[in-house]
Amino acid sequence: MTKKILLLGSGELGKEFAIAVKRLGCTLIAVDNYNNAPAMQVSDSRETINMLDGHQLDEIVEKHHPDIIVPEIEAIRTERFYDYEKQGIQVVPSAKAANFTMNRRAIRELAAKELGLRTAPYLYADSFETLKDAAAKIGFPCVIKPLMSSSGKGQSVVKDTTGLEKAWNFAKSGRGDSTEVIVEGFVKFDYEITLLTVKQHNAPTLFCPPITHRQQDGDYRESWQPAKMNPEFLIQAQEMAKKITDSLGGAGIFGVEFFICSDGAVFSELSPRPHDTGMVTLANTLNLNEFELHARAVLHLPIPEIKLLRAGASAVVLAPEKEILTPDYTGVEDVLNDSTADIRIFGKPQTHSKRRMAVVLKWGTIEDDPETLKNQARKLADKISVIEKK
Ligand code: AMP
Repeated sequence: MTKKILLLGSGELGKEFAIAVKRLGCTLIAVDNYNNAPAMQVSDSRETINMLDGHQLDEIVEKHHPDIIVPEIEAIRTERFYDYEKQGIQVVPSAKAANFTMNRRAIRELAAKELGLRTAPYLYADSFETLKDAAAKIGFPCVIKPLMSSSGKGQSVVKDTTGLEKAWNFAKSGRGDSTEVIVEGFVKFDYEITLLTVKQHNAPTLFCPPITHRQQDGDYRESWQPAKMNPEFLIQAQEMAKKITDSLGGAGIFGVEFFICSDGAVFSELSPRPHDTGMVTLANTLNLNEFELHARAVLHLPIPEIKLLRAGASAVVLAPEKEILTPDYTGVEDVLNDSTADIRIFGKPQTHSKRRMAVVLKWGTIEDDPETLKNQARKLADKISVIEKK
């Protein structure tokens, strides 16, 4: 049961996953492209490589002989995963899931064309000229996203043709090694949810109660659970999540994102790993948080049930625009003086503009209104400042 895990990506989500698997006695090698990344601080050993470089990946796989490879980010040469799987290494949740979700095109084609899930209208473009055509066909407003990116990186909403050039240049500056973009029709949703979906090995797929979140600049600011939603739309979302996770295969947690419109759920995207908005589960909203669920699913351990214990909320703390070389934090006492709040400081060694540095957690009873908790979490998070250590 105690496995050797190679964790590819060592951010805040990786750190919590590392803690969860360490608690189950596993050995962990944390990998990222910079030293002292959050998960490295709680792992047995570390490697600093460029994960988009297949040779560097091969070298560390060869060196460590892991039982399991757990990707925490998208920007990895995931094509190599098929080979690792053939070598008998378990890739989480599966080589196909990690490879498909790295590129928005693969996952969109699977969702919309193969499985017939409801999505926003979309087209692809690989040059400024084709982008203009695509946007004209989709109509305005539209959303432009690099194919190889996630969580709003390089993404913009364009109101009319005058905004296209800026959006194209912004998308090109996004993460990953593709310059292609997807142009999506703007969905006028009432709210959006993350449906944490736990695909198990030889056991039924389980769903966490839905999480609602607020995004700004394409990035999550607060999330709260459980989302109050039309039960019919929740069933639609669960059915879509089951379909697509079954098609991707393997075992692990997936963050499946939906727009909820007045007439039902629209599939947006999915990540085959714990989701940033799922950090709300660190407020012990459930009997097992999303990282513990992922750990159990990955290790093929039982998950007898997922139970909502209380309502909760999370609010992120961002770094200021000016870079900080040795971050320190003020206002932590204000959070900890609240007996129903807590903070997770990720321990990132330095900041860049708007980098996510910590998350504030706030909880109530199962009857409490999660939206009120969200407002309280935001107020507490706003008391935290990231400053240069004296
Ligand atoms: P993504 O990186 O695709 O998850 O997008 C990040 C966020 O941008 C989403 O959570 C939405 O808030 C917003 N967004 C993305 N695509 C659309 C769309 N087609 N219509 C409206 N909002 C969108």
